[in-house]
Amino acid sequence: MARNLPPGITEPHFTAAVEAFRRAVGDKWVLTGEDEVAGYRDPFPILDPGHFAPSAVVLPATVEEVQAVVEAADRHRVPLAPISRGKNLGFGGPAPRLPGAAVLDLKRMNRILDVDDRLGYAVVEPGVTFIDLAAYLHEHGSRFRVDVPDLGWGSVLGNTLERGMGYTPYSDHFATQCGMEVVLPDGDVVRTGMGALPGSRTAQVYPYGYGPSYDGMFTQSNFGVVTKMGLWLLPEPAGFRAYMITLPREEDLAPFTEILRPLRLDRTISHVPSMRSLLLDAAAQGPRSAYFSGDGPVPGSVQRRIMADQRIGMWNFYGALYGTEAAMDAQWSVIRDAFSAIPGAGFHFAGEHDSPVLAARAKIMAGRPNLETAGIFQWLDNAGHIDVAPMAPATGEDALRLYELARDLYLEFGKDYMGNFIFGEREMHQIHLMMFDTEDAGDRARTLRLCEALIGRAAEHGYGAYRAHPAIMDRVAATYGFNDNALLRLSERIKDALDPNGVLAPGKQGIWPRALRATGH
Ligand code: ADP
Repeated sequence: MARNLPPGITEPHFTAAVEAFRRAVGDKWVLTGEDEVAGYRDPFPILDPGHFAPSAVVLPATVEEVQAVVEAADRHRVPLAPISRGKNLGFGGPAPRLPGAAVLDLKRMNRILDVDDRLGYAVVEPGVTFIDLAAYLHEHGSRFRVDVPDLGWGSVLGNTLERGMGYTPYSDHFATQCGMEVVLPDGDVVRTGMGALPGSRTAQVYPYGYGPSYDGMFTQSNFGVVTKMGLWLLPEPAGFRAYMITLPREEDLAPFTEILRPLRLDRTISHVPSMRSLLLDAAAQGPRSAYFSGDGPVPGSVQRRIMADQRIGMWNFYGALYGTEAAMDAQWSVIRDAFSAIPGAGFHFAGEHDSPVLAARAKIMAGRPNLETAGIFQWLDNAGHIDVAPMAPATGEDALRLYELARDLYLEFGKDYMGNFIFGEREMHQIHLMMFDTEDAGDRARTLRLCEALIGRAAEHGYGAYRAHPAIMDRVAATYGFNDNALLRLSERIKDALDPNGVLAPGKQGIWPRALRATGH
């Protein structure tokens, strides 16, 4: 297969850039071989396999090497897309948005630079995974834990930059981030917030600093390469119990959300709980073919059989209690009383039900990273997924309206609905895990059309997506269209000012540099 070069870059030009990268990091740490680079494609290709393939991969080990690589990319005008571990698989994994960009893989920068066991924070480099940090805290007898997302193999820093979520009381990773170090597109190094003060004692305890606060600017953007990040850690709870509430009917979603909201707002439920749809949970127990091998979505009669077989609900809610035994007893009596208003609701503690999902969620809500959630990919042959994640206010009407419009689209496109809702205090992320057969071109095309239709329909009803796969980044960006896309135009002005040659992650989140805007990329 011919090398995927970036637009406008000839082979000799590319060779010169690769030479410059080699001088910056050493020969061994610049990959250009087809097989080596293939590992950095979209792991679940929704377009043609190889569409988002990079041209090369550069693996620096220090901040100085990052600076040297960024400067070389700028000099040679070769686009460079940073990743930390590249494990955000439903959102494209390590693949760059611009086909042919070189990937800047930061996994060799994997030091845990500091853990403060009095104030409860850590400082990490990009290559540190949730599994690494949790193991470090455990081995050092720390009194703190790290909040973890569904799969623990991703980068703590990378997940935070995408504004990813976990499920403990510290689940909003951007909200619990404190202080960054960033290499700008011209190679300059900035520390944000209090960290700009040499010898600062408060860089990781007070997030805002003096003057404008810039941390958010480096999330879901292409304005800099983040090389260090502080994050707050969760104090080890006095006690912990995980539970599941099963709901028998689709429409239970509305009253359930109405009951949940006040419990989240007053923090009786102190963490981010989740609610998973029937088929998402069923996939943890076996392949789709065990129940249904016909065309189109799994029919209602089969869904009812799965519910009975697996003793799960149409919706399955996962929550946890944290604190002393007395505090947990008190929380539970309020929670149980409140949700008992829903006819047929089932209540189960971890260990009292054989659901593998409950066992995995119990670990995750306790801050114990693992990879068990990946078991759901047994559902289809060659299973991949692309995630679409519209946000809704946490009201019963909104929860049901957004779910129903999605469900109807799934039926229209002949796909199984698999959803995971995660509940903040005032909002819910309705995450759609669209599973497809990566070897089936028809299924890929249908799934992509469904994604696009869902983004459009959700936006028409006022529900915007919070994150996107490279194949739909521009589509999502276009929905934020107030005042002739003023928000995107602001991002483009910042992009042009900080990165006039447009080398850093062109197109990420729909932000294209001037030259590629002019040519329509
Ligand atoms: P994870 O392994 O936790 O899923 P990734 O490494 O895939 O995280 O990062 C998610 C996205 O965040 C990447 O695709 C990239 O756009 C951005 N990103 C990751 N690390 C950096 C970084 N150090 N600096 C700038 N952007 C980054």
